[in-house]
Amino acid sequence: MRVLVISDIHANQAALESVLAAAAGQYDTLWCLGDVVGYGPRPNECIELVRERAALCVMGNHDWAVLGRPGINVDDFNPQARQAVLWTREQLTDENRRYLEQLPDMPVEPPDAQRQILITHASPREPVWEYILTPTVALENFAVFDNPMCLVGHTHKPAIYRWQSFDAAAEDGGRQERKVTVDYLQPRADGVLRLDTSATQRLIINPGSVGQPRDNDARAAYAILDLVEWTWLYTRIPYPIELTQNQMRAAKLPKRLIDRLSFGW
Ligand code: ZN
Repeated sequence: MRVLVISDIHANQAALESVLAAAAGQYDTLWCLGDVVGYGPRPNECIELVRERAALCVMGNHDWAVLGRPGINVDDFNPQARQAVLWTREQLTDENRRYLEQLPDMPVEPPDAQRQILITHASPREPVWEYILTPTVALENFAVFDNPMCLVGHTHKPAIYRWQSFDAAAEDGGRQERKVTVDYLQPRADGVLRLDTSATQRLIINPGSVGQPRDNDARAAYAILDLVEWTWLYTRIPYPIELTQNQMRAAKLPKRLIDRLSFGW
């Protein structure tokens, strides 16, 4: 069983279609880590593709904001993101809004993965809002789940955090004690990563963003997780960025959001 793992599409239909075409024939099912909409010009089209193709999708903070749920203040977003949220709200069809409404806002264990994997948009601790950008924040999050692996999106930056526990001599030279470390591993595009997980080694992995990468690489990101071979293949592909930018101009979305797609930030 091979899973196409995608995240942070952000209504970028050209990027999503390019990823689906590039990965065609290489996966059996699709999981989406949230933020299907927000920022980009084609929210309905992207939701429809995800509805049709994804076995599983979780709620992202932009999906949440577009729904205007109580307790969420859209003023917490930066001005351009807020403008895009308000624009998206007006575009959504009733059916697509209903799809967003039923997305889980808590971490999910995909039924195909037998408790090996947890998926969530942001973090296990704060499933919709927290950014895992450092080993310290990753360490705190490893404490709140016990699966060997957790898949997250939200930062728009591909990343691997590796948790290891081991016996170490106590500071005072007394008996052994259990220590835990987390380190950051740089994902390598097109390299197959063997997922070395065990009781003493666990992973939090981010596949990067389909529709608005922020790691200074403008290409769309995705990954293929093989649940049998237990491998992770992370990939970047070019997509017609100008097509998305022209659609954004036509929709009068903020210039800053249009420009950033060219640079991947
Ligand atoms: Zn996002």
